[in-house]
Amino acid sequence: MNLKYVPTTCPYCGTGCSFFLVVRDGRLVGVAPRSRSPVNEGKLCPRGMAAWEFVASPERLTHPLIRKNGELVPATWNEAITLIAEKFRQYQPSECCVLSSPRTSNEDNYVMMKFARGVLKTNHIDHCERLCHASIVDSLADSFGHPAMTGSIPDLAKAKCIFVIGSNAFAQHPLIGRKIIEAQRSGATYICADPRKTFTGSQADLHLQFHAGTDIMLLNGIMHEILLQKLENTEFIAERTNGFDEFREIILQPEYSAENVAESCGVPAEKIRATAKLMALPGCAVIYSSGITKQGNSAENIHSLANLQLLTGNVGRAGTGVHPLRGQNNIQGACDMGAQPFYFTGYQRVEDADVHKKFEEAWSFSDGIAPAKTGYEITEMMDSLISKSGELKAMYIMGENPVLSDLDINHAKAALEQLEFLVVQDIFLNETAGFADVVLPAVCFAERDGTQTNTERRVQRWHKACEPPGEAKADWEIIASIASAMGYAEQFSWKTYAEVFDELASLTPPYAGISYDRLASADSIQWPCPSGDHSGTQILYTDTFATADGRAVFLPAVRQIENEKTDEQYPFLFTTGRCIFHWDTGSMTRKSSAANTGNWLEINTADAKKLEISTGDSVRLITHDAEISATARVTEEILPGTLFMPSHYVEFTTKELVQNTMPTPGCGGRSAKIEKII
Ligand code: SF4
Repeated sequence: MNLKYVPTTCPYCGTGCSFFLVVRDGRLVGVAPRSRSPVNEGKLCPRGMAAWEFVASPERLTHPLIRKNGELVPATWNEAITLIAEKFRQYQPSECCVLSSPRTSNEDNYVMMKFARGVLKTNHIDHCERLCHASIVDSLADSFGHPAMTGSIPDLAKAKCIFVIGSNAFAQHPLIGRKIIEAQRSGATYICADPRKTFTGSQADLHLQFHAGTDIMLLNGIMHEILLQKLENTEFIAERTNGFDEFREIILQPEYSAENVAESCGVPAEKIRATAKLMALPGCAVIYSSGITKQGNSAENIHSLANLQLLTGNVGRAGTGVHPLRGQNNIQGACDMGAQPFYFTGYQRVEDADVHKKFEEAWSFSDGIAPAKTGYEITEMMDSLISKSGELKAMYIMGENPVLSDLDINHAKAALEQLEFLVVQDIFLNETAGFADVVLPAVCFAERDGTQTNTERRVQRWHKACEPPGEAKADWEIIASIASAMGYAEQFSWKTYAEVFDELASLTPPYAGISYDRLASADSIQWPCPSGDHSGTQILYTDTFATADGRAVFLPAVRQIENEKTDEQYPFLFTTGRCIFHWDTGSMTRKSSAANTGNWLEINTADAKKLEISTGDSVRLITHDAEISATARVTEEILPGTLFMPSHYVEFTTKELVQNTMPTPGCGGRSAKIEKII
């Protein structure tokens, strides 16, 4: 028997837990703890424990497929690549667009970015996580300079106070939840602000159960109290920030008094005052996630959290800072690699003439690269297609499923129908492939080398543990084959992941000091790592911010989001979110038997009593335009008048209902009614 333990990282959330894939005689048989990782120290959540199961699913794509007479039929790689190259050659750069993927490696994303800008000559490149996490990138950069977590996961255990908002961290990022508990056991006060009293909230020393959609009111109320009680860090504000006076004037308006905020948010004034006192202590860390970034006012929410930490001087030391918990495993890496319409790698702006020249010269495309102007975000791509302007005609999607991940499924389907030519590259025949002209089988995390970058900017290695099914290939190799068929073999001539990494690192200042050799000895390195003798950066902004003048910026936020209005006919506010067992659209976790469970709808105990609904009853949830059935779960975790359902379970035919809802706690929701199915 040949037994191997291959180190890699989990394919689900952005925590970036490390484990060994256990391989017996060439077949994956499980995962084993890897205690060397400073992120998870050998521990895993249920998703990570079952991460190996979907790899051998019989539903994996094994061969290229080409649509003929309306049906996707098996084809050879040569037929598929030739057809794609011929088709893409027929379109103008402005007619092509690309979706890259936070589920694939940094190398895959870099190669896709180079393909879009160098071969298709378009800046219309994006990825679906923009739908919930783009504001993390943009808004933190507005305040501090870098679009990323300011501290490190291990340092969270050193905080004296932890404030969590918009995150069911114990379910979505359980190994970060573990750090919260570690801090709490060392004496830290843990505050959780969430409209639901989830397990994350129930463990808190102080739970602020605010009305969905009133995040800004609550945060401004806390800052109002900090100012009223003169708890701000005047020295930090004077030495390291800009914009304080204007910010102060807005936050001190009577609208944000504790009493007024209490009335709007449903959080008692004394809890708001207590939170202000605790957060003003030296050593407070803020954690947030998609509960406040999947909203119409997400940028303002992030600015508010940055303001809070600037006001109290809680940035730039261990156990302080702002910690966005990113969704997909390599969402940070996909952003770092320039899979966005406005940036090359390392957030170098495409409109910057010097940056444009740098990439044009380094890549050496004889016919140039995409012009120095920003392309379309994914939402703009979909809107353009929906408008039937004919502007966009061809799309290449790698490792994404916009039909399910778009906030509005009907919108996504109507958009994809307008395409003349669609290539889908994935590990399963997903719902988006139903619109594809060509489907290409790719490898999954266990079958590839490469790197990923987790939510705390930590670059880690993946190692190939087993062979892919059938003829599936690495994403970057597929892209390189298409580029070669289109006449660009020289620019895509790498032989290994390491060669791709060396090229991307040479063009990306925060990655410049990272290499496969260094990752082999250091195991992981956090960017910025500007040179080979730099050990990486655990904490950003210890001395200076990454802005033009080195000072952070107060950006006051005032805008609230609107919920759908409830009425007599639809008296409940319906929201959705995630649970511990599944990830994202569930395409991988739902194929892991150890993690699969049935779906449910949560209703408050008092509401359930009135409607004579008990846990386990079959119920029907009805909104203005859709309905779905589920099993009731009666709970005190949610406020009266609200309903909650995890977003992973719903079948495709009913997904519209959930996707049309702002999908996480704190995001507001839709008006709905509920009926017991007799
Ligand atoms: Fe770690 Fe997230 Fe994977 Fe769970 S899902 S093991 S928290 S990376």
